[in-house]
Amino acid sequence: MTLNRQKSLARFREEEFDLAVIGAGINGAAVARDAAMRGLSVALIERGDFAGATSSRSSKLIHGGFRYLPQGQLKLVYGALRERERLRHLTAPHLVHPIQFLFPVYRGRGFNRFTMAMGLTLYDLFARVPFKEWHSTLNAAEVRETEPALSRDRLTGGAMYFDAWADDARLTFENVLDADLHGAAVANYTAVENFTMTNGRIALAGVRDMLGGQSGEVRARKFLNAAGPWVDEIRQMDDPLSKPCVRLTKGVHLVFARTVLPVRESLVLADNRGRIVFVMPHDRYVLVGTTDTDYAGDPASVTTGAGDVEYLLAVLAESLPGIKLGNADVAASFAGLRALIRTEKDAAAPSAVPREEVILESPSGLITVAGGKFTTHREIAQKLVDLVMKRLGRRAGVCPTLATPLPGARPLDEGEQPGSAAAMRSIGAAAAEILTARYGTRAPIVARIAARRPELAEPLSRGCPALGAEVVHSVASEMAHSVGDFLIRRTSLSWRSPLEAEAAAPAVAAIMAAELGWDRAREDAEVARFTHEQQSRRAVA
Ligand SMILES: Cc1cc2nc3c(=O)[nH]c(=O)nc-3n(C[C@H](O)[C@H](O)[C@H](O)COP(=O)(O)OP(=O)(O)OC[C@H]3O[C@@H](n4cnc5c(N)ncnc54)[C@H](O)[C@@H]3O)c2cc1C
Repeated sequence: MTLNRQKSLARFREEEFDLAVIGAGINGAAVARDAAMRGLSVALIERGDFAGATSSRSSKLIHGGFRYLPQGQLKLVYGALRERERLRHLTAPHLVHPIQFLFPVYRGRGFNRFTMAMGLTLYDLFARVPFKEWHSTLNAAEVRETEPALSRDRLTGGAMYFDAWADDARLTFENVLDADLHGAAVANYTAVENFTMTNGRIALAGVRDMLGGQSGEVRARKFLNAAGPWVDEIRQMDDPLSKPCVRLTKGVHLVFARTVLPVRESLVLADNRGRIVFVMPHDRYVLVGTTDTDYAGDPASVTTGAGDVEYLLAVLAESLPGIKLGNADVAASFAGLRALIRTEKDAAAPSAVPREEVILESPSGLITVAGGKFTTHREIAQKLVDLVMKRLGRRAGVCPTLATPLPGARPLDEGEQPGSAAAMRSIGAAAAEILTARYGTRAPIVARIAARRPELAEPLSRGCPALGAEVVHSVASEMAHSVGDFLIRRTSLSWRSPLEAEAAAPAVAAIMAAELGWDRAREDAEVARFTHEQQSRRAVA
């Protein structure tokens, strides 16, 4: 069974759904999955690509958020750590991996050794990790030995502790896929444009197919607004007098080749005011972020600015004084928007605004979710679906997502099994490893394509950890419609292997052209668009 956009659009026209979810970032995708698993008929409507906004631009951490402890956000940290452990060990072990951080402590900046040790003890207790994953404290000499590149000026010691990371876009996609597998009608590139009311309640949403241009409508008994940075735009469609409920702040990440930023460890650095910046080596590249500044522009146009690069380079220069980096060393960057709850504390610095989600209900019945952490998406969805069930007069029952693995973490359905082992063997160990890392137990579905067409069992460019067969699979079964859909969100190559991704763009476009019937002009335009975007994310003026 695969995602089929035309079928979903036909269902949008024909059915009345129990629930229509607007936005397929992680929150919308997780709600659609949970609701479909509880037996509701669900439409999941996404204006761009799945995870096309904030949910592919996070720091990729599945974490409790150590920095929230001093802010007293204990409930958030506890809940997030419980979710981290569930994802790591039960629901998404193929996508959520441990990451060990070195956290150096400097006199007069951020945490001191005592508060750090206290905080990490609480952190590990909340997570209930096994003893081998408990944090360890280090003296200054041990920190220097562990990461010689770190500044030694006023270094008093540090700690090593475990957290987790994941490919955020892929995790979002697995929620979308599971919603589909449980009967939801799912479509990307379909925008909600307006609502029609009956007796003061929303009865239908006007939608536009962003690929074909046609307009249509989706009827549902309940509508849920999970539009991330655009939640207020959707609330305005519902009630033009509604006040904004979110404050947008921008977060930028930079990617460097490991050859120019040769750190041994994942690091927790602090700026001169104690604000945390993560440095995370992933294979041949290092992800550095993030910033946190108010944003008032068009959410669709958020980009990395010169000031963002300057700030992150300054933190690196201060903490890793022997490593000289400049703008020209940035291999890629991405910028995302946090939709933080608006509070009376709006004068507070962005980093001080609570990260917990808020759930609002308007008189027309529209439910809005804003804020929250990627890590807590399942728990947020559980709360929302409990509420939807109540409003629909149904029993909420036991939430099925508490104990159900995502598709790539459970056995293939019987019909998908034949020939799996042989297909995985035939493509060789290196290719099998690439597919398993991305698709988990579903890797044989892609391997079968490569086994049938050996020319697609090769990497898309030199050193590129993706195969031609994945492009075919992404078009046939994952609703990819552009080179960017594949290189940015289906595989995350745009940040995990940015230079290899750029080199792979022509091969990706050629395979897509054959699958989707593009002419030469469209194929060239796709390569040009991706290359331009990738280069502009690299060369920040
Ligand atoms: C820089 C940064 C770093 C972060 N790091 C972490 C981290 O390391 N760990 C963590 O746990 N959390 C992190 N977060 C938070 C996390 O990324 C967000 O909480 C989460 O991604 C929000 O998901 P969402 O589904 O609400 O929004 P989004 O992912 O933005 O999804 C909203 C979707 O709604 C769609 N949409 C909008 N309007 C319409 C419409 N009219 N019709 C149809 N669809 C529409 C959009 O296209 C979009 O895809 C970070 C956030 C940022 C910005």
